[in-house]
Amino acid sequence: METHLTQPNPIPKGNRLIVAVDGPAGAGKGAVCRAAATECHLAYLETGAIYRALGLLALQEQIEHPEALAQRAVTMPFSYRALGAGRFRAFLGTEDVTDALRTEAIGQAASRIAALPAVRTALLAFQRRYGDGQHVILDGRDVGTVVWPDADLKIYLTASLEERAKRRVRELQELGKNASFPEIYAAMAERDQRDAGRADAPLKPATDAIQLDTTRLTLTQSVDYVVGLVKSSLKRTDFACTESAIGSR
Ligand code: C5P
Repeated sequence: METHLTQPNPIPKGNRLIVAVDGPAGAGKGAVCRAAATECHLAYLETGAIYRALGLLALQEQIEHPEALAQRAVTMPFSYRALGAGRFRAFLGTEDVTDALRTEAIGQAASRIAALPAVRTALLAFQRRYGDGQHVILDGRDVGTVVWPDADLKIYLTASLEERAKRRVRELQELGKNASFPEIYAAMAERDQRDAGRADAPLKPATDAIQLDTTRLTLTQSVDYVVGLVKSSLKRTDFACTESAIGSR
């Protein structure tokens, strides 16, 4: 997998800010991370896209055995790219698979393979290497607990299942895909259970995470809150922050 990030002036280790955002599907992680990354000039990695890309390949290539899946995790030509103007896209080779990855079927496939320890181990190095030399924000299920347990800022976003299912229905409709609320609700409940109940890296807040329930918040409110936290962290002197490193609203 390629990180696709070349850094002319890498930030020395120890000076770069690592922000971990975890939570269940539909809590708003992607939207707040995209906004924080854009406004605060951070690299962004949506770790769920990696699991989804492997889920897509597993379905297409009919790979089921855990070791074969772990092997494919290492060889798959996944990259995650910032295309400017707040746009982040996932690629397999030269193919932009961002929209193809968003279906609930792929989410379920991702969640099934994400429960396999061999697959998780195979994907760890890429997540830890990502954005090397840059301030970085990552979202997922275990970023603050497993991938970056020493992240400088950890945020756990959640929302009620009903609200998250409504959001996912809207998101799918905007992509022109069919979306039935009862089906999405049931599938999300199943995925929540599997993600939180698995033995390896289950979904749970890190003990030092700031928790935010977005059920009654607008997207703008959630974004403002998280962007505020990131900006405060960047301003701390130990991140050698310059004015240009802090976006302005
Ligand atoms: O975040 P998203 O819904 O795209 O993630 C898809 C699935 O990938 C999740 O349901 C979860 O099972 C898995 N995942 C994970 N660890 C992560 C990110 C995603 O297990 N860090």
